[in-house]
Amino acid sequence: MKRILSVVICAVMIFCTAGIAFAADGECGCGFSPIIYVGPLGCTPIVRDSGTQNEQRLWRTDTRFILSNLSKVLPDITKGILSRNTDLLGDALIEFVNASFGDLALDNEGRSRENVTTPELNVPTGSRHGPDSDYYFDYDFRLDPYEHAERLHEFIGQVKALTGHNSVKLKCSSMGGVVLSAYLDKYGHDGIDVIICRCCPLLGTAVAGEAFCGKIELNPKALTRYGEDSIPFLEADFADDFIEGSLYALLDVLKGAGVIDMLCALGDRMIEELGERVYREALIPIFGTLPGIWSFVPEEYFADAVRFMKIPAEGGLHDKIFAYRNAMTNIRNNLKAAKDDGVKLCLICGYNVQRTPLVSLWKSTSDGTVDTKYASLGATCGNVKEPLDDAYLTSLKNRAHLSPDNMIDASTCAFPENTWFVRDWLHCNGNSGIDELFNLVMTADEVNVRSFEKLPQFLEADDDADRVYPVTGSPDALARFRNSPTFLNLVRFLFSILKTRSFAGLLLFK
Ligand SMILES: [Zn+2]
Repeated sequence: MKRILSVVICAVMIFCTAGIAFAADGECGCGFSPIIYVGPLGCTPIVRDSGTQNEQRLWRTDTRFILSNLSKVLPDITKGILSRNTDLLGDALIEFVNASFGDLALDNEGRSRENVTTPELNVPTGSRHGPDSDYYFDYDFRLDPYEHAERLHEFIGQVKALTGHNSVKLKCSSMGGVVLSAYLDKYGHDGIDVIICRCCPLLGTAVAGEAFCGKIELNPKALTRYGEDSIPFLEADFADDFIEGSLYALLDVLKGAGVIDMLCALGDRMIEELGERVYREALIPIFGTLPGIWSFVPEEYFADAVRFMKIPAEGGLHDKIFAYRNAMTNIRNNLKAAKDDGVKLCLICGYNVQRTPLVSLWKSTSDGTVDTKYASLGATCGNVKEPLDDAYLTSLKNRAHLSPDNMIDASTCAFPENTWFVRDWLHCNGNSGIDELFNLVMTADEVNVRSFEKLPQFLEADDDADRVYPVTGSPDALARFRNSPTFLNLVRFLFSILKTRSFAGLLLFK
């Protein structure tokens, strides 16, 4: 009896020292299920001839590799431009694109070349979990999203076993939302208790749709704004506040002097003359074979894109490209089913950032990469930098989900109660204010846009100051400078005055 008692006492002591978190059967009692972070495109390197002398990183672009390819064709590019020889220029560009990206292409079955691999894919290890720790799920962005879904299914099982929890939280960034869409479509939401989608192209992105339909154009206004919106996010070691402010000013001067219009006209002419060849000989054979990139094509572009990119009428690649359409079509219903079953849901997307200046749909408001209407599953949005038009606003009966700057009406999106919008937030940029929202979402009992007083549905990001605050009215450069008195914000404020006073413009640019 004594022996039994001492064994019991020992067992209790071991149990206690092993951590109070583990209950019977290896279950964790900490009350916080583990987070799995489903990363964005480019979350892992893609490598040619891994482990050999010829090893070369093909994705997560290796600048030296790109520059060395460029240096080989630079003389021909220069000659081609100077002598207006589009054949020579075309040859050089196609050679450059193929040398840099050609080995990324998949075969007719949608499989990678055998010597092109992702050698660093994560496998979950360790049992550490909590609000400040996550398991990183990465994947080869080129492949069929359903292949990632299968791996994610295994990954979730491994994380549950390691941590002693029977559910996980999925935090998806950008293309991570594509993996989520395929996952929910194939496996449902069993064993998931929180879903966060951060800047995810759940219904695609216009830039992919238009690029795959051959609708490329350079727009001067879009190019300038794109530059302006990107300046605050230059690489940290380069992005001294003073340099940012000066570049911002320089862009405005270049625009005023007509330099940007000239560049665009030149670019447009070249795109027209070279476009067809570059598509046929480089872009279609490479990027047209990647089901991962096809998952970004919104439904309204898909049929045209299939024709334009000359997708084979059958075979494995065809099937993979078409299969993802189900995941995209069903995402609303799949998320709704999850929400109805008590899964806490948070979609968050940026707006009012100028998108890639290469497509005809440059006015579509976005986070610079993903259109707000697609990331939010259907919000009604004004053009970038503009409010919704007067007719829409006057006829709007329910204003509960109208942004205070009149730019976004969230009442039309799939989850108006669970979708946050952040003005001036560049695609997936780190911001402590937004991280705080995620922490609240993961710990609160109930999650909707009215749950957190300081973090309502419409927020404004000040990435320089690393915080967000509620949107109270139209963008105002003075208010922004008062909130965050950096040199960059001062320059923005000064230019906002100049832009509204034509005499000052005349003074500057004549
Ligand atoms: Zn735990």
